[in-house]
Amino acid sequence: MSNLELHPPARQCGGLSGISARPVRELLSPRQADIGGSTVVRRLLPNLGRRMVGAWCFVDHYGPDDIADEPGMRVPPHPHTGLQTVSWLHAGEVLHRDSIGSESTIQPRELGLMTAGRAIAHAEQSTRPHPRFLHGAQLWVALPDAHRDVAPAFEHHADLPVVTASGLTATVILGELDHTASPGTTYSPLVGADLALAEGTDVRLPVDPDFEYAVLTMSGATEVDGVRLDPGSMLYLGCGRTELPLRALSDSGLLLLGGEPFEEKIVMWWNFVGRSQEDIAQARSEWMTGTRFGEVMGYDGAPLPAPELPPVPLKARGRVR
Ligand code: MN
Repeated sequence: MSNLELHPPARQCGGLSGISARPVRELLSPRQADIGGSTVVRRLLPNLGRRMVGAWCFVDHYGPDDIADEPGMRVPPHPHTGLQTVSWLHAGEVLHRDSIGSESTIQPRELGLMTAGRAIAHAEQSTRPHPRFLHGAQLWVALPDAHRDVAPAFEHHADLPVVTASGLTATVILGELDHTASPGTTYSPLVGADLALAEGTDVRLPVDPDFEYAVLTMSGATEVDGVRLDPGSMLYLGCGRTELPLRALSDSGLLLLGGEPFEEKIVMWWNFVGRSQEDIAQARSEWMTGTRFGEVMGYDGAPLPAPELPPVPLKARGRVR
């Protein structure tokens, strides 16, 4: 999926200054963003109060939307650099096509993992015909400097490992949870897990004290470390935990995101992650001139033009707390 803002701000993210070394409970509010077609999303990261959680640098939650009489998702070809994208559905079907020739239909609870590395372009759309409801999340992972120029790749993993406890089914999307690892390729220590909780479940999920964590509610009502969460809200939890108390007030679906604090500073603008103004300006120019990113075949529409670069140089900024 894409950042379709017409005037996206440039952001410096990462670094250790805003990381909470101890457990905290910091509720993050979403803001609405339009991503094309009939889909409106709630953007949780980057957030005014928090830019990253581990290497996770972008989180959109959308739906559930009734798209029976709508086109559903229609995100035209657009570029990415320096990151991985994770497509995660609870309902619906999304067709992914990219400039390295991948064409793949992602179903609920299957991992669509695209590594942009040096450069990739992709398009995503609801299938035709499509299921009535569309509900999912789009997540980006920043690549560390040593790997940000890796060759672009796409992985589709339909069968992911699960960790179970009484009333809890945790699907390991990416990285590792409770010594159970996703087959998806990662470049830094992190975890993304889908937590399905039955009403009345009261469990403590084992987590890594060296990771910082956040939890996003996709459906249902839960208490995470005593804080009530409803769909579309995200709770930042800091580092220093060995377990995370979860209580389901109804049948619920959560996303747990965590990772080692991302020490490097990155620059994010539009759909690019780089390290400098020059990286971003070059990626933008090479997208607009049709070099570097290749072509996405099969999408019935024009590629997305890049917005204008902000007129001011990208400046280093600490995290807002
Ligand atoms: Mn995208």
